[in-house]
Amino acid sequence: MKIEDGDFVMPGDFLGIIEQFLPDKGTYADKGDIKSNIIGNVSIENKKISIIPKTNKPSVLKIEDKVYAQITDLKGQRALINIDKLIDTDRQLALPYLGAIHISQVKKGYLEKLTDAFRIGDIIEAKIIKITGDNVDLNTFDEDCGVIKAICTRCRGFMKTTPRENELQCENCNKKERREISKNYVY
Ligand SMILES: [Zn+2]
Repeated sequence: MKIEDGDFVMPGDFLGIIEQFLPDKGTYADKGDIKSNIIGNVSIENKKISIIPKTNKPSVLKIEDKVYAQITDLKGQRALINIDKLIDTDRQLALPYLGAIHISQVKKGYLEKLTDAFRIGDIIEAKIIKITGDNVDLNTFDEDCGVIKAICTRCRGFMKTTPRENELQCENCNKKERREISKNYVY
């Protein structure tokens, strides 16, 4: 079967041979054959063949994707998170993904303890740096990454920023706490 521009394909579908096309996004070469890696529509441009993903369908995470996530636990050197949503895209996640941020991946400088950056329940923005099977590792190095919403560990009140870097203060009980704060902090 000859593949044409716009054809609908599934993962593993044969697209052509490497003598015909240059494999590009959404494809892979398998012993000289080019196959689709994803569900989508074929795009052929200047001998480059790629697959345009079906929009608004469940999608998998990729390296460099930025996500909204919630801190679910702090265990040793790792903050465990639930990944809720991809940022800046219509792609929907098929499942909530689990991920982790190692203490060395929170900020570019030294961080003494994870609780100076995150607390359970915080909402963060983070970037995906590694995917190994079901394990997703992230960092919060970028300015727009870090905590975007936090609640007080004492009274569960909403925390607002203070003039000091990476410090929040509870609007209810005035307790001050440290966080790795995103420039997109919501308050
Ligand atoms: Zn409080």
